[in-house]
Amino acid sequence: MDIFTKMNEYEQIMFCNDSASGLKAIIVIHNTTLGPALGGCRMRPYASVDEALEDALRLAKGMTYKCAAADVDFGGGKSVIIGDPQKDKSPELFRAFGQFIDSLNGRYYTGTDMGTELSDFVHAAKETNCIAGLPEEYGGGGDTSVPTAMGVIYGLKATSKMLWGSEDLADRTFSIQGLGKVGFKVAEQLIELGANLYVTDVNDNTLAKFIEKNNKYRNAIKFVHGNDIYSSAADIFVPCALGGIINDDTIEQLQVKAVVGSANNQLLEDRHADVLRQKNILYAPDYIVNAGGLIQVADELYGPNKARVLQKTSAIYHSLEEIYQEAEKLNISTAQAANNYCERKIAARKNRNSFFSRHKRPKWQIRN
Ligand code: NAD
Repeated sequence: MDIFTKMNEYEQIMFCNDSASGLKAIIVIHNTTLGPALGGCRMRPYASVDEALEDALRLAKGMTYKCAAADVDFGGGKSVIIGDPQKDKSPELFRAFGQFIDSLNGRYYTGTDMGTELSDFVHAAKETNCIAGLPEEYGGGGDTSVPTAMGVIYGLKATSKMLWGSEDLADRTFSIQGLGKVGFKVAEQLIELGANLYVTDVNDNTLAKFIEKNNKYRNAIKFVHGNDIYSSAADIFVPCALGGIINDDTIEQLQVKAVVGSANNQLLEDRHADVLRQKNILYAPDYIVNAGGLIQVADELYGPNKARVLQKTSAIYHSLEEIYQEAEKLNISTAQAANNYCERKIAARKNRNSFFSRHKRPKWQIRN
């Protein structure tokens, strides 16, 4: 493999090996124009090093765009640990990983992603101060689903304004897929605002819990079975569960005027943004709408403050407005307009150093 051809637009790749703990990891830094790279660490039993590298490269680039869109002082990076999260984890492995992170001297900050948990990073944080998204008891911001749900509500308001000239969500109907940490909160806020809901979740207990807690709004809530959520006659589809749910099959079924939700990687393929546009369905790019969690994680560097995070999250409304207007003006998909929006932000800061590339965060007081 010609690694430098692969690295073309990337700044750095670090291969980490620690035989004592069995750590095999790859850290990729895509772009630090806006600040040090930020991106979670994924642990998977990758079939090969090539597969692990491809995953890290793809995810690191995505983080550059996510950070630019969220207006946080970070660039894009990602790391992967090659191993089985069920069998190969140990405190020593994460401490070794923490030492490699620390050797980058503030160029890369990481935290949880698929296969890793906050408790793993408590070990890593003993070796480096470059861990973001720690539990509240370690000085972190805690559960990210609160600002993420708030960001979805801002996204729905901006979309409503674009479609109907008013951000008022009362009497609108929303079809929500997934009542987990984010979807549950979005659904509650919507019924409190006077909206009607179609909801579905694969977990019946979750649905029962939702009704028990919100029984006074029972008339505004309709349960839908599984995939029937796609054809529900709602105004806006709100995916808060899986990725890949916007595809040829589901787009055919959609009755809605817009898709606005928290789920990551909603489009099965990039071209599905154009298919939605052809069907006159307004798509709110997922990484713009679900940035609330990232905003909280990045904000930890200023010291946790929930009110400030929610205030910063309101910027999602204005980002979406700008993206919708550009897509309409240039007759392009909103996904393309979102990428343009992020690239403009990066270009505008190209020759300026960010605050956090010059100042390292104070070390956490974690003891063995
Ligand atoms: P979660 O695991 O708490 O909730 C997901 C819910 O979806 C669960 O209740 C699950 O039972 C349900 N579900 C799974 N498959 C389903 C299906 N086929 N149909 C209907 N329901 C299904 O996750 P979460 O934290 O609420 O995140 C939801 C989505 O938002 C995920 O895609 C996640 O990557 C994304 N996201 C979350 C955050 C955050 O801060 N939590 C931030 C950014 C993006």
